[in-house]
Amino acid sequence: MWALVPGDIVGIDRYGNGPPVWLVAWTGRAARCLEAPVPTVCHVLAVVEEQLSSGDLECLVDGCGGVLAPWWYGVERDLVGLNGGVERVRPRRAICRSCSRTRVLLPDTMLRRRQYGVEVIGEALALAAKGWAWTRIAARLGVAYATVRGWLRRMVRRADLVRAWLLGLLGALVDDPWLPAGEQRPLADALVVLDALRRQLPARWPLVARLSRWRLVARLSRSGLLAPPWPLDHLNASRPVT
Ligand SMILES: [Zn+2]
Repeated sequence: MWALVPGDIVGIDRYGNGPPVWLVAWTGRAARCLEAPVPTVCHVLAVVEEQLSSGDLECLVDGCGGVLAPWWYGVERDLVGLNGGVERVRPRRAICRSCSRTRVLLPDTMLRRRQYGVEVIGEALALAAKGWAWTRIAARLGVAYATVRGWLRRMVRRADLVRAWLLGLLGALVDDPWLPAGEQRPLADALVVLDALRRQLPARWPLVARLSRWRLVARLSRSGLLAPPWPLDHLNASRPVT
């Protein structure tokens, strides 16, 4: 028998963003993902193709800033939407012309390693913020209880951190931002800040006006709202959404 220590390589993730990614033991109890940051893009493939062909997407690896170019596709996968509809999604893969890393560009309808679309997960979070029990939310959405419980557990634990992250974005990305009144529940408080951000960002980034609150948070978090590494340590403040 052997025990994991920080730094041990424990496996390869083939389902997240980009090429196979090493997962490394972090505390002996959990694994931390070391994948490179990638932009989350529009769910309309034609838009992504146009951005790639015109050199409009930028590598987010620290110190790189290279231009992303088309590079095959990611693994095709099912994405479950509201009302249980299943869509097959085949995300675009891109390669950086400078550092040569390849990665999958997830659409803003998805969160990393989640089979359900961001609108479904978001609806669950919104109902939880109103005080609904997870069993009632699961029944309402037609999603397995354990799945909903997993979403809520992770989000509730980090709600204060998410709120702080959103407040940081508000200060960094909005000129003269106004702050919303706080809510009693941390999750509800985080969603209030998210909505304030969504209302104020279009002054500098008109693209945001076309995004739902959940597609916006998918883009800002690079599909990582419920992913293990949190808080996020990368943000392109000159271009938070692509
Ligand atoms: Zn690069």
